[in-house]
Amino acid sequence: MDLGINGRHAIVCGASQGLGKGCALALARENVNVLLVARTAETLTLAQQEIQALSEAVITTIAADITTDEGRDAVMAICPNPDILVNNAGGPPPGDFRDWTQKEWFDAVNNNMFSAIDMIRRCIDGMAERGFGRIVNITSISVKTPMPGLGLSDGARAGLTGAVASIARQFVQHNVTINNLLPGLFDTDRGNGYLAYRARGEGADVDLYVKDYFADKNPAGRLGSCEEFGAACAFLCSALSGYTTGQNILLDGGQFPGTF
Ligand code: NAP
Repeated sequence: MDLGINGRHAIVCGASQGLGKGCALALARENVNVLLVARTAETLTLAQQEIQALSEAVITTIAADITTDEGRDAVMAICPNPDILVNNAGGPPPGDFRDWTQKEWFDAVNNNMFSAIDMIRRCIDGMAERGFGRIVNITSISVKTPMPGLGLSDGARAGLTGAVASIARQFVQHNVTINNLLPGLFDTDRGNGYLAYRARGEGADVDLYVKDYFADKNPAGRLGSCEEFGAACAFLCSALSGYTTGQNILLDGGQFPGTF
């Protein structure tokens, strides 16, 4: 399927590894020029080389912390008129609600809610004027169903989801869409790290815990792949998806047990 985004320009945040890199790769395969954002220059360069080898588009990088104003200024200075924005940053640490003070909560809200909203603010008027914009926020299954230990993530991402619901309706008439992709458990540092956290909490061997977890709790019986995640993102960024906005799309191997 031709997604109709050849030659477009994308900012992909949190793109040196994991789900963000999966999104960047899928967009680059559609010949979208991609600016990869992450904090660590070395891993960014490795990702850039890997993605560039598979695409004729221009793949560039910037080492910046997307959760700071300075970082977002630097990103926008390099790519002031993106057609596509993928919002993503590292997730908050898992833990016990009783240990989290104002600092932990404010950090989570800044990193996983406000930063995405501020990037949307910076990009959306230009997208509307040009008559094309696709924004995808990487959130979490924890928006739909609580995950043990992930209260900071549940709270901050629920806030982003609520904010985006109204913004999305405001801009779709200009062919600018905003959707959220909700990962279940994916084969990344974060996904594997969370399973290890759960295993430790139960005093279990990590490998055995993971095997039992997927046998018991996940109909697909496995972690998702970054390639699968990236493909869903690329479709939401396509020219064909202009009638889909404000949606929360779960990619979890059927783990969430609801009908809707
Ligand atoms: P990951 O493998 O840890 O990758 C995170 C990426 O984001 C890296 O490229 C990292 O590079 C970058 N990053 C982190 N903080 C950043 C910042 N402040 N500014 C710019 N870049 C930053 O994580 P992932 O598994 O891909 O997860 C992506 C998001 O989805 C996270 O928010 C995670 O909580 C959420 N999620 C993941 C899963 C899962 O199973 N994987 C499930 C639910 C939700 P640097 O460290 O070099 O900056």
